Amino acid sequence: ASGTSEDSNSIYEPQKVAIIGAGPVGALAALYFAKGGWQVTVYELRGDLRNPENRSLNFTKSINLAISERGINGLRTVDPDLTEMILESAIPMNGRMIHDIAGKQSSQRYDVHGRFIRSIDRSYLNGALLDELDQMSNVELKFNHNLKRLSLERSEATFERRLPSGETETIRVNADLFIGADGAHSQTRYHMMKYVRLNFSQEYIDSLWCEFHMPPCSKTGDFQLDPNHLHIWPRQTFMFIALPNQDKSFTCTLFMPEEMFKDIVGPEALLKFFLTEFPDVVPLIGEENLIGDYLKNQKLPLISVKCNPYHYRNKCVIIGDAAHAMVPFYGQGMNCGFEDVRVLWSHISAHSSLTTALESYTSERHKDLHVINDLAMNNYVEMRASVTSTTYLLKKGFQEF
Ligand code: FAD
Repeated sequence: ASGTSEDSNSIYEPQKVAIIGAGPVGALAALYFAKGGWQVTVYELRGDLRNPENRSLNFTKSINLAISERGINGLRTVDPDLTEMILESAIPMNGRMIHDIAGKQSSQRYDVHGRFIRSIDRSYLNGALLDELDQMSNVELKFNHNLKRLSLERSEATFERRLPSGETETIRVNADLFIGADGAHSQTRYHMMKYVRLNFSQEYIDSLWCEFHMPPCSKTGDFQLDPNHLHIWPRQTFMFIALPNQDKSFTCTLFMPEEMFKDIVGPEALLKFFLTEFPDVVPLIGEENLIGDYLKNQKLPLISVKCNPYHYRNKCVIIGDAAHAMVPFYGQGMNCGFEDVRVLWSHISAHSSLTTALESYTSERHKDLHVINDLAMNNYVEMRASVTSTTYLLKKGFQEF
């Protein structure tokens, strides 16, 4: 019997899956389904990120991110060798390094047993997954395909394909299952809402984020800060953070209320702000780079999305940010997306009917995802303020660095 049958007792055969979005979560989902014998096609709005010319197109994403056991488990379950290869390029972060206004640094370990999170280059991680998919005969990657419509009664998706000439053409494709991994502003989710009573909420927080680059030391070529920490400059209502990169630089992010960004107009105001709030950062980044990055880099919003259910019958399911975009303060957005894929696949493997598998996936997953979404929101207060309170430090066994 066919997996797309409405008969919930049917034994289904792997069939055709169309994955919308070739971000980290869509690429990992493609790997699970391809290894499970499905015919997989991935449709991605942008050009191939492995082509340096296309990198600048994805300007809304942080350069590096923290990968934790939750995400690594999602990778390892489908491909242990690939996971080892990817982790070789990740940098362990054993704890937070808190920078106070006088420049004093204090280390707070994440775990008494020595467990840690890792800083990884987002493009490298995403590219490694796409490289793996390229080698599989049952996977096709289609870039420059923008999902425009999704007709789930006809099992048909309509894409606008961008041609090298700049013109576009309309492409219609059929699949047995559609997986929406198309990010916080998911078109798959939007179209699925027409078929299912989907509860949905979204919230923008008042803070924006802006990235800065801290180069390696010009004299030694080494890291300018301890590379095995996630560095935080907490300032109660705003904060600056830095994560290490393989090339011994750090990618830094300023999270701050929009109103404060608006008040910083021009190089002088920016320097004054940094010299007052983060004086130790100025020589590490350099005045010129600081000003250049601030003026050039966008100040981007942060959105939190919750919804339920995540699926429609045996036709469609949404995963990753499409299902649960969260603010980044718990470092769990992508990690949870990787966990979605592992959990989804475990339900698909455990059930003889795809309808039942997707139903049980939604019912197991939504409680956990709503909780982690809230934890991420609460952790903004923890990172920018609570980490400096004496009670908190005593509770956590504060150590001087
Ligand atoms: P995305 O990465 O958004 O990928 C979606 C893909 O779908 C994109 O390639 C997009 O082009 C494509 N797409 C969109 N619309 C269409 C369409 N109509 N048709 C076809 N394709 C489409 N997470 C962590 O786990 N750890 C961290 O440390 C961390 N740090 C972060 C720091 C910042 C500043 C931010 C903003 C986020 C951070 N996150 C972190 C969250 C993480 O970036 C996301 O959770 C993760 O990128 C989600 O992956 P995804 O594949 O679901 O979605």
